[in-house]
Amino acid sequence: MAKKVLKFGGTSVGSIDRIVHAAKIVKKEHDRGNEVIVVVSAMAGTTNNLITHSESISKKFNKRELDVLLASGEQVASALIAGALNNLGVKSKSWMNWQIPILTEGEHTNSRIVNMKVKGINDYLSEGGVAVIPGFQGISKSGDITSIGRGGSDATAVAIAKIFDTDSCEIYTDVEGVYSSDPKKIPVAKKINKISYEEMLELSSLGTKVMQPSAVQTAMMYDIPLQVKSTFTEQKGTEITNQDNIDYTKVVTGVAYSKDDAKITLIGVEDKPGVAADIFEPLSKNEINVDMVIQNISADGKKTDLTFTIKRQDKNTAASLLKNNKKIKYETMQMNDKVSKISIVGAGMVATPGITYKMFRSLAEEKINILAISTSEIKVSVIIDEELTIRALKKLHKTFKLD
Ligand code: ADP
Ligand code: ASP
Ligand code: MG
Repeated sequence: MAKKVLKFGGTSVGSIDRIVHAAKIVKKEHDRGNEVIVVVSAMAGTTNNLITHSESISKKFNKRELDVLLASGEQVASALIAGALNNLGVKSKSWMNWQIPILTEGEHTNSRIVNMKVKGINDYLSEGGVAVIPGFQGISKSGDITSIGRGGSDATAVAIAKIFDTDSCEIYTDVEGVYSSDPKKIPVAKKINKISYEEMLELSSLGTKVMQPSAVQTAMMYDIPLQVKSTFTEQKGTEITNQDNIDYTKVVTGVAYSKDDAKITLIGVEDKPGVAADIFEPLSKNEINVDMVIQNISADGKKTDLTFTIKRQDKNTAASLLKNNKKIKYETMQMNDKVSKISIVGAGMVATPGITYKMFRSLAEEKINILAISTSEIKVSVIIDEELTIRALKKLHKTFKLD
């Protein structure tokens, strides 16, 4: 007998038929004698619809109320799964975030799970019941409903695996696992059998939606292996695990993309010590993260250009902070938010020289201009024109033999 967490994403519970199908998967595990905790997302599209409702009242909708609103999506799915299990003859019950409770810390819409009470649920499991828990939410110390960021049901599943000390954590989704690139955009992408936490964390932070970054980070921190698999087929999925368990034959494991960035160029800034610090100070004070930075050498030793990228959602705030700060002097500001970030990720890069060159050369062969670059030990990211995203993904996929 094993104790398992089974997490079902939005598409996996996107209709009543799919909920019944997910309940059958749970029943199968339960029939094998396993103790099962189910974590559910809201039905596909629900969270987006709720956000649209709030925005039609105000773009600055109160965040406490937004959390109350968003949490309702997972509440609906939890009750439907538990009800479907009952209907299949399986003893099952749903718990809401405040009933368990799932304690969180941090601000509304971006909290993190810090603890959960286990006794009630553990007792229920040992009496043969299946516990159904809503993903993506919790309550704060003061008793307010909170949410933990988009895609956060993955993080709920991992937190439950840790706090309930389960034997496995299975992430059921609408694709058969983690692929070398988004299989919906690059049909020749290949499923990866095993991937390290480090690589998965890079890939998800760089836009690979299949796992939420903070879920991977927690799994890595506590060495909780994850299995990503399909709700709709019985194929073996992907194991996300410790690097020691992986044999690397490929230098690059995957290619990720995101369209979350905007690029700002300040033309004609003074070329002297302290100028970059003055520019980034107001951004940092307003919690705007600067990702890539390029500063040209100045031809005359007096003026230069500074390019950097930030999250697209921060572009207006960043522009007005720079315009209105008297300490910051430049001739013109250029903003480009029609860009995408393409990244290659692979633990094998550490020991293989020439990967960055190979990436740049293959983009050049496609006449794709690189607008900004950043690298770390196991990834290289570039900013390019958004229109060229798919062309770049296909080319890099081929160059690094991932097809
Ligand atoms: P869920 O609702 O189950 O949480 P998500 O929509 O959050 O599912 O994540 C699954 C989606 O991630 C897939 O449908 C796929 O389009 C996308 N995706 C992006 N990159 C990858 C990748 N490298 N491997 C697998 N899926 C990916
Ligand atoms: N329903 C939430 C979202 O759409 C959480 C999740 O699906 O993981 O972001
Ligand atoms: Mg998801």
